[in-house]
Amino acid sequence: MRIVVVGGVAAGMSAASRAQRFSPDARVVVFERGEYVSYGACGLPYVIGGEVDSFGDLVARTPEQMRARGIGVRVRHEVTGVDARAGTVTVLDRASGRTTTEPFDRLLLATGVSPVRPDWARTDLEGVHVLRDIPDGEALEASVRGARRACVVGGGYIGLELAEALRARGLSVVLLEKGPEVAGRMLDPQLQVQVRGELERGGVDVRCGVTVQGLTGRGRVTGVQTDAGLVRADLVVVAVGVKPNVELARAAGVRLGKTGAVAVNARQETNVPGVYSAGDNTESLHRVTRRRVHIPLGLPANRMGRVAGVNMAGGNARFPGVVGTGIFRTFELGVARTGLTQTEAEELDLNAVSVDVTSTDHAGYHGSSRPIHVRLTGERGSGRLLGAQLIGHNHLSVKRVDVVAALLGRRGTAQDLFDADLAYAPPFSGVWDVLLVAADRLH
Ligand code: FAD
Repeated sequence: MRIVVVGGVAAGMSAASRAQRFSPDARVVVFERGEYVSYGACGLPYVIGGEVDSFGDLVARTPEQMRARGIGVRVRHEVTGVDARAGTVTVLDRASGRTTTEPFDRLLLATGVSPVRPDWARTDLEGVHVLRDIPDGEALEASVRGARRACVVGGGYIGLELAEALRARGLSVVLLEKGPEVAGRMLDPQLQVQVRGELERGGVDVRCGVTVQGLTGRGRVTGVQTDAGLVRADLVVVAVGVKPNVELARAAGVRLGKTGAVAVNARQETNVPGVYSAGDNTESLHRVTRRRVHIPLGLPANRMGRVAGVNMAGGNARFPGVVGTGIFRTFELGVARTGLTQTEAEELDLNAVSVDVTSTDHAGYHGSSRPIHVRLTGERGSGRLLGAQLIGHNHLSVKRVDVVAALLGRRGTAQDLFDADLAYAPPFSGVWDVLLVAADRLH
């Protein structure tokens, strides 16, 4: 059995490790077009911000360590074609320029996503960056060193994490967002405002409702031209979204879903026999809406990879789907969400209602206690939980979101949440935790 994996980060490496463990006799080979495998891209903003010492710290396992475990890893090898009928891939060795044909019995596409680069961002100007992988991070780091004024384009979680990181490095930061508020796709408007306020308290100049038209500069970028005027900047980071890398899938005759990502079943199998797909390039089932979604995040990517690995090696594992859980930090605030926001629920014509509770995360009398806001959303009538959004002044306090995430996967109700026997001691929560208070109000 020869298992070929395309892409060597979260999904690809989880799959390779699992397949090799499940079936030690299988020959598992990973082709990665970049230089690094098995690293945590999620840590990139924290290296830029100085909270993590080096990009090397993000690497969980080197190719040599993977080879010692019996997994063939070939970096700087790009898969340029798939012949699913013949069971072969075409591989370009980027170092030598040589092309070879490699056979497979099972193939995994774990090709991830690429950052969206609007036309104005396709430039040779120095100082213009995206952030997806370690080389992007190294290039950004080199630019940060000589820069004074940064402009971050995009108010999603990566843009927000970078704005904070660049402030920590002493740069002035302007954050441009096309939509009416930051974190627009994560939170309801009431909570977006709180995030924007925190960015401003952190010294970020936030400008929403602004469209970028182009860049200025010769050799190096000097500014961002917008419909609201020129923003002077000697460093520009473009964080306006990602698109799934599906070219190989298309070439192999693999079906894409409505989201534009690869369509798979719960075993991570595509419509082409023997070809699997996992990670950011792949759709998943949303367990609340039962619709197919494309939510490119770390845990689902690892989990899909694990499932694909077991199945490619002859086992029977299933990916349960996602509930859209996400979390990030912006300066002093922790921000988390799971399930649907009220806005998203209404867009889906669900009969949704939300309650807001602002309280303290620990017992009010305890010195460690800080404010926390919970917005809990449920379905009128049935009481079924639909989602939760949390903003807390102790970052860790919003990890409570996991309680709701676990219930959402089981179609739990507000009553189920209210009945949960949560842990309590004054330095951790109030006796009636803010989640219980919100559940009580919702049911
Ligand atoms: P990727 O990590 O994109 O890896 C795909 C790999 O495939 C790439 O290395 C690519 O070079 C390779 N490849 C593509 N095509 C080919 C080819 N033809 N031949 C060979 N190789 C190929 N997620 C969270 O859950 N929480 C976070 O806090 C978080 N923060 C993030 C911060 C940043 C800055 C970034 C960039 C991402 C963050 N993520 C976060 C997302 C998380 O990193 C991804 O969900 C995860 O990396 C997806 O893994 P993957 O293996 O599916 O894809």
